Amino acid sequence: MPVPKQRHTKSKRNRRRSHHALKKQNIIACPNCGQPVLPHRLCGNCGFYKGRQVIDVLAKLEKKQKKEKEKELAEQQEQAQSLDMKEMSKGS
Ligand SMILES: [Zn+2]
Repeated sequence: MPVPKQRHTKSKRNRRRSHHALKKQNIIACPNCGQPVLPHRLCGNCGFYKGRQVIDVLAKLEKKQKKEKEKELAEQQEQAQSLDMKEMSKGS
């Protein structure tokens, strides 16, 4: 097994680690429900990607949970749409 011949200085070690910092994730709001999502990924909250439903987020839920989730999604959609309208009026 190879063994280091000489000890690296703090300076050498710190210079090596200068590239180890984590970058900030680029997070956007889902255009359908407004929840934070990663770009180019489908939204885990509502299952939408590129303006269409890709997965059924209600499929695995039980009846009670389904109703609650449906309500939640409807509210979020309304909020997201109202935000869109505000931004549209700002732009013009
Ligand atoms: Zn969404």
